[in-house]
Amino acid sequence: MSMKLVIIGGVAGGATAAARARRVSEDARIILFERGEFISFANCGLPYYVGGSIPERGRLLVTTAAAFQSRYRIDIRTFSEVLSIDRARKTVTVRNHASKETYTETYDKLILSPGASPIMPPVPGIDHAKVFTLRTIPDADRIKACIDRERPSSAVVVGGGFIGLEMVENLIERGIKTTLLEKLPQVLPPFDAEMAAIVQSALRDKGVELLLGQGLSALSEQDNRLRVATDSGGEIVCDMLILSVGIRPENALAKTAGLELCPAGHIQVDASLRTSDPDIFAVGDAVCTHDLVLGIPTATALAGPANKQARIAADNALGRAEVFRGTVGTAVVKVFDLTAASTGANEKTLSEHKIPYLASCTHSGSHASYYPGAEPMAIKLLFAPDTGKLLGAQIVGGAGVDKRIDVLATAIKAGMRAADLEELELAYAPPYSSAKDPVNVAGYVANNIVKGDMQIVTWREIDNLPEGHVLIDLREQKELDMAGFIKGALHIPLNSLRDRLSELDRDKTYVVYCAVGLRGYIAYRILVQHGYKAKNLSGGYTTYSLARGGPAR
Ligand code: FAD
Repeated sequence: MSMKLVIIGGVAGGATAAARARRVSEDARIILFERGEFISFANCGLPYYVGGSIPERGRLLVTTAAAFQSRYRIDIRTFSEVLSIDRARKTVTVRNHASKETYTETYDKLILSPGASPIMPPVPGIDHAKVFTLRTIPDADRIKACIDRERPSSAVVVGGGFIGLEMVENLIERGIKTTLLEKLPQVLPPFDAEMAAIVQSALRDKGVELLLGQGLSALSEQDNRLRVATDSGGEIVCDMLILSVGIRPENALAKTAGLELCPAGHIQVDASLRTSDPDIFAVGDAVCTHDLVLGIPTATALAGPANKQARIAADNALGRAEVFRGTVGTAVVKVFDLTAASTGANEKTLSEHKIPYLASCTHSGSHASYYPGAEPMAIKLLFAPDTGKLLGAQIVGGAGVDKRIDVLATAIKAGMRAADLEELELAYAPPYSSAKDPVNVAGYVANNIVKGDMQIVTWREIDNLPEGHVLIDLREQKELDMAGFIKGALHIPLNSLRDRLSELDRDKTYVVYCAVGLRGYIAYRILVQHGYKAKNLSGGYTTYSLARGGPAR
């Protein structure tokens, strides 16, 4: 008898598992249940469909049930919601929402990929018709129809995570004045404050009204518009509201079937993606796996891990022995002309888990400065103080951010150190990079810190430097005039530093800074080799001023 594999959920994880299962076994009987109308649709493309850069709805359908069925000979049942799992009998109960019939289906092995649903915060008025969430094609249709039909002039997006920012951009693309309401003091929670600050300033430049540190407290109707009250007492009147305040794993089936769940409600799986029932596997947004940096259980709601897990779960359901080692949570988002990307841990999570770390910030051009069109990028590396082992990276900038984060994600997953980044041989020709790629440069700087060739201070420390610390601005006068400077700093341009050493005091510690940290490093080396105590401001004045929301004058 051939094996009967039942898959619940037909999008990222479910459809991938089904296709993989068929490639592994021509004999298996494979049934895929999907509650909605579509399988294998591009949820990641939905914001761009709303904004218009994906013009045709049909392009969101990576494949159709009919095409999938004929290529993979999989029994696809859409509009079919699995209501319960009877683990003892190895059956699922299914409700066909089209025919209204309910029936049971047996399984030998089951793969769950039910995903996660948008969180609806319990605030008054949340079910108002002009409040939208975005997960499915029908959700995108509703938002698009509202924009096309009612021509809203203003919108509020609640939540400044990846989907929230994508929606902000796409609403602005549609000519809608948009306010972003975010409860945290910054957008993009996976990023540290100074990196998120770059994104925030880009959002403001594009006309987005940013209300940080303010949550949604109530919604009500006012003259056919939506009145949005914030928990800081503010009020905004708008024509539509998009809620993107996070997601909750769809765990109802697993929970009622008695499968073990993680504390936050995700389905517990082992490295082979098996749940607490050996015949049931689970993948995607609904599961918690292993954080490769922090060494703790984690839930990663991203399409990449869902796809990879699905392939492994399908293999294992069919008797193979593949392992999902875990995730470093690599993510990237476009915010207008900027790209923001992160991988591994950030300062918040490392501190929370009491993992010692050091951080370095560098600023590089996307390619050689003499070839036209280079765009700046800020790279932040987090690494172990003793070994330099890489723990996390964040990059915000223009062209080339995506390829650098992929290199760093690979390095982190491979357990590499800052010193290893120095040695990476990365593709170079002037239109693409520099002979020292931004990743190499980030490695040089981080490894200088690990080796003790440079001591740094971070932008956070500047305003509270201990007694005996003196700031020196190493830039040229015109740079200070254009970009501002840090109050109280001595001004000694790098090229005159050697001539002016006699003005300095060996009992003091000189905190040097330039635009991005390179001249600061040179000055640091001059000072310490002449017997002075010094530290370099990591990321220079650029990081300092960006973190503080603009030039300090
Ligand atoms: P899903 O893809 O959500 O699929 C779950 C399916 O299961 C759903 O269709 C649901 O209807 C079905 N289902 C649930 N319960 C049942 C049941 N009982 N019976 C039958 N069917 C059921 N990730 C990225 O990496 N990059 C991005 O740029 C990105 N952008 C995104 C943009 C948006 C707007 C959204 C919503 C998500 C985005 N994601 C992105 C996240 C990514 O889409 C998810 O991580 C991924 O789809 C998770 O796959 P999954 O199979 O776990 O869940």
